[in-house]
Amino acid sequence: MAEIRIENLRKTFGDFVAVQNSSFVVEDGEFLALLGPSGCGKTTTLRMIAGLELPTEGRIFLDGEDVTFNRARDRDIAFVFQLFALYPHFNVRKNIGFPLLAQGVPKAEIRERVEEIARLLQIDDILNKPVSGLAGGDRQRVALGRAIVRRPKCFLMDEPLGTLDAEFRDVMVRELRELHNRIHATTVYVTHDQLEAMAMADKIAIMNHGIIEQFGTPQEVYNLPASMYVADFVGSPPMNFIHFEGGVQKGNGSVAINGAQIKVPELHEDISPTKLALGIRPEHIQLDDNGPVRGSVFESEYLGTTQIVAVDLGNEIIKARVSSERQLKIGENVGLTFDSAKLSLFEVESGRAIQSVLYEGVSHG
Ligand code: ATP
Repeated sequence: MAEIRIENLRKTFGDFVAVQNSSFVVEDGEFLALLGPSGCGKTTTLRMIAGLELPTEGRIFLDGEDVTFNRARDRDIAFVFQLFALYPHFNVRKNIGFPLLAQGVPKAEIRERVEEIARLLQIDDILNKPVSGLAGGDRQRVALGRAIVRRPKCFLMDEPLGTLDAEFRDVMVRELRELHNRIHATTVYVTHDQLEAMAMADKIAIMNHGIIEQFGTPQEVYNLPASMYVADFVGSPPMNFIHFEGGVQKGNGSVAINGAQIKVPELHEDISPTKLALGIRPEHIQLDDNGPVRGSVFESEYLGTTQIVAVDLGNEIIKARVSSERQLKIGENVGLTFDSAKLSLFEVESGRAIQSVLYEGVSHG
C-alpha cells in the first residue's frame, strides 16, 4: 500500500479553472473522501491521481515517487467507477480474475486469489453465476473484487454507490468501510453525499469551485468548520448562522443577539467591528423558558426521538434539534440557550471562520 501526496495541483480547461492550489496527503492505509457538489472538481482531482488527466501545474507522488507524468497503467492504482462495466458474457469468477489473467498470473494462483477475494466480499456462493442476472449490490461487489484482486497500491473510487437505491447504499457504505478496515488500502473516494463521507472516511477534503475549503477528520469538519460553506455543506440540518454587525472583545467575550448577550468561546484578540455570523449546530440549542434569546415557533418536524424546531427570531429562522417529547405550538413564544463552547464565529464577507475564537491548541485546520 502507499501514501498519496498531492502538491499544488491545478487543472484548467481553456480559461476554466477546474482545480486550484490543491495540496494534501493521504497516508498509507487511510480512507480519504473528496466531498462537494457537482462540478466542484472532485472527479478531475481523482482522474489526475489516476493518470487519466495531466495536471496543468503541480505534482503527484505515490509512495514518495513522482508519478505526475507516468501513464495510468504504470501507477499501480485501481479505479472503481460508478458504472463499472463488467464483462457480460463472463461469470463472476472470470470477471474478478480477468486482471490477473491479463497479467499472466498462473491459473492456480488466480483461482486461489479470486476465491479469497470472493470470501472477503461474501460473494463466494455466486462465483459461477453469469454477471448479467446479478442485482446492483452484487455487481458492485464483483467490480470491487476485480479492483482488489490485483492488490494495487491504492484505490480510487468515483461515486461507486451512485446508482444504488437508498437502502442498499447504506448496506454498501457499511460493507465498504468494513472491507477497508480489513485490507487497509489507501483509498480516495469521491462523493457528493456528506453522510457517506462522514460514515466512511478517516479524512475528508471538502471542495468548492476547485478549491479545498477544509481537509480534516469528520469530527474536525463537523465541529470546527473552516468556513460557512463547510458548516452549511456538512450536517443535516446544516449549521445555523445568526448574522450581526459589530466587534468582539478578546477574553471572555460575548455578542448581542436580539438584545441578549451570548457568551462566545475565548478570543485571543479583539475583532474589530464588521459583518459577523455566529454559527451553531441544531443540537447545541436548547429550549429553555428562561433562555435569553426569544423567538416564536415557526414549524416543527417530527423525527421520532427528536424533532427539528424552526424558531423565528424576527429577522432569521434557526433550527434546533430537541426532544420530541416537548409539545410545541406554531407561533408559541420560546426561549433558547446556546451551548457556548460549541459556537463558531465567521467573518461574513470572506465566509472564513475566525480562528482566534477557538480555545488554545485547537485549530480549524
Ligand atoms: P460531478 O460529480 O458532477 O462529476 P465533480 O465535482 O466531479 O462533479 P468534475 O467532473 O471534476 O466535477 O468537473 C469540474 C468542472 O470541470 C466542471 O465544471 C466540468 O464541467 C469541468 N470539466 C471537467 N472535465 C472537463 C473537460 N474535459 N473539458 C472541459 N471542462 C471540463
